[in-house]
Amino acid sequence: MALRMIRQLGDKILTKTCREVTEVTPKIRTLIDDMLETMYAADGVGLAAPQVGILKRLAVVDIGDGPVVLINPRVMEARGETFEDEGCLSLPGKVGKVRRPSYVKVEAWNEAMERFEMEAEDLLARAFCHEIDHLDGHMYVEKVEGGLHDASEEDEE
Ligand code: ZN
Repeated sequence: MALRMIRQLGDKILTKTCREVTEVTPKIRTLIDDMLETMYAADGVGLAAPQVGILKRLAVVDIGDGPVVLINPRVMEARGETFEDEGCLSLPGKVGKVRRPSYVKVEAWNEAMERFEMEAEDLLARAFCHEIDHLDGHMYVEKVEGGLHDASEEDEE
């Protein structure tokens, strides 16, 4: 396993739409392991493949309940609303308030390319939406209301 460089806001790769993963090759498996290691080393709760320079629909999330690997994730259902500070490993030290659904049901594939559905609330729902946005070339800063401010002790996604 190896740490990967996290691309920062302003890097054009973060604005590109990612391609679907069709097969979990050894290369993809290594990428997943590296992304998890990179996310934990940076103290983040989520990381999307474009953030390490790979334009594939793949993200990892861990809000403290264990790692979730999301391949080709898609939001199937969304309900409710929360309005909380959000951060990103591609913009360290900053946070801003973003409206997100308080509940989502996500469809994705795991490392064995088995389809699964996962329901998520609050922070996990926020993390899923944030990472899926990355796969479509969007950063949370586009959705921030009230401007960015310095992070205190919030988690960064
Ligand atoms: Zn992010």
